[in-house]
Amino acid sequence: MAGDDLAGTACRQLPALLILTVVLTAQAPARILSDIAAHPTSFPMNAALSPSYDAIVVGSGPGGATVARQLARRGSRVLVLEQGSAAPLTGTLGQMAKMAAVPGKGVFIQRDASLLVQGITAGGSSAVNFATAAAPPPEMFAAYGIDLAPALRELRAELPIGPLPDTLVGPMATRIMQGARGLGLDWQKLDKMIRPQICRSGCWRCAYGCPFGAKWSARDFLDEAGQHGAQLLDRARVLRVTLEDGRATGVEFMRDGQLQSAKARVVVLAGGGVGSPRLLHSSGLRPGDSSFFSDPVIAVMGSVDDIDGGAEVPMAAGVRFDADGISLADMTLPKPMYQGFTAQAGRLDRLFAHRRTLSIMVKIRDEIGGAVGPRWASKPLQASDRQKLDTGVGMAREILAAVGATHVFQSRHFAAHPGGSVRIGDGVDSNLQTGVANLFVCDASVIPQAWGLPPTLTLLCLGVRLGEHLAAP
Ligand SMILES: Cc1cc2nc3c(=O)[nH]c(=O)nc-3n(C[C@H](O)[C@H](O)[C@H](O)COP(=O)(O)OP(=O)(O)OC[C@H]3O[C@@H](n4cnc5c(N)ncnc54)[C@H](O)[C@@H]3O)c2cc1C
Ligand code: SF4
Repeated sequence: MAGDDLAGTACRQLPALLILTVVLTAQAPARILSDIAAHPTSFPMNAALSPSYDAIVVGSGPGGATVARQLARRGSRVLVLEQGSAAPLTGTLGQMAKMAAVPGKGVFIQRDASLLVQGITAGGSSAVNFATAAAPPPEMFAAYGIDLAPALRELRAELPIGPLPDTLVGPMATRIMQGARGLGLDWQKLDKMIRPQICRSGCWRCAYGCPFGAKWSARDFLDEAGQHGAQLLDRARVLRVTLEDGRATGVEFMRDGQLQSAKARVVVLAGGGVGSPRLLHSSGLRPGDSSFFSDPVIAVMGSVDDIDGGAEVPMAAGVRFDADGISLADMTLPKPMYQGFTAQAGRLDRLFAHRRTLSIMVKIRDEIGGAVGPRWASKPLQASDRQKLDTGVGMAREILAAVGATHVFQSRHFAAHPGGSVRIGDGVDSNLQTGVANLFVCDASVIPQAWGLPPTLTLLCLGVRLGEHLAAP
């Protein structure tokens, strides 16, 4: 993207972004709510570096945390470098904004003025995600000789994966489900990665980072890796992979304003769909314009008079049309996020209707395109993407009409699943190895084709599989 284009886009989006920022900061609580007991991390932090490691893992989202845990469990000496902070999650707006709303870090303004969001923190985007679980599509991975079934079985046995009990499905999700089923849609409760016995009815903080330890996030695996001796350095931004004789030997990173280096037998890049292609580029191993998918989303919203809600787990239930690449789900958002959407859509008349507004998420499987650049990422919608979104929005509007919602409007599109930028079969082989010896990638960037699903569980499966591969004698 030319610099001028980017500047023009930024100018067009700036008013909406400013409104969003004002709304976010204006409503930030001045103190951490007293009933929130921060869920601490047990990860050993900031110990001195060893002369060398068995593995360096760059990035601590679902892909990176899982490889680190698998290797540490097998006795490998592992260093995890994460550019975000590992401070305990407090479930506050201010912390969420630092993790996922800083322009150019947690949020990118794309060429079509839409937003691309990711979490920059220990645990990556899983710290702020909606905790919906979907199994990896077996045929997609089988095409590359990859069988994720054993890893999936193992993960299902150990993780809290399942639909929420009815007591945790909020009134808004329930009303939307009734409307959808009344129209004949196969609208079912979705699998969530939430411990129901700890999750609190009437809580809505998943997208801020669960402070109660109820939502599974990659921080859980980081903790376990730490218990097995792995070392985490947070606020450590890796600049490049170091190479000797064509083999990866370690990384250079910035921490506290100082350039440092670390050595290892194996380097695993797990910086996410934006971070990993950038690192390959800055290391001279990939051009600076990797295409990607983003799974764009539109929220369709409408008000009802008889619900006083707005505080519930998002994406409790929904429906998937896999052949069409469209999914729908309830998506009750925290009030400031809802207000950001209303401002962005120019519907200031709905700004204070959060507690009565039902919200349906329409998400699509978009075409791979756009590019991740050295300092930007942009995947504008293509014609077929628009068509899918229009179809999904039509269905969401029908559901809202069926439940008697009025003042129906929709958000601009946005996206939170950057991936497919270092695809299996292109940027890495079926063992997730790059063309460089000892250099692997394990995160959403290796997903081999257009996607449209919640990626986390698939990335955990890939992480288990890579960990076992690397630990094998
Ligand atoms: C709001 C939201 C809701 C979502 N809801 C769901 C959901 O319900 N279900 C689901 O499955 N998925 C959901 N997702 C997506 C899911 O969380 C991500 O796809 C997943 O976390 C990606 O994992 P990853 O391993 O690719 O790494 P990421 O989670 O992207 O983490 C990468 C980490 O690497 C770090 N990093 C990057 N570059 C560097 C560098 N140079 N040096 C050091 N560190 C670096 C980053 O700071 C980051 O912490 C959601 C995402 C968002 C933002
Ligand atoms: S709704 Fe449950 S999982 Fe989400 S933040 Fe609250 S307690 Fe945690």
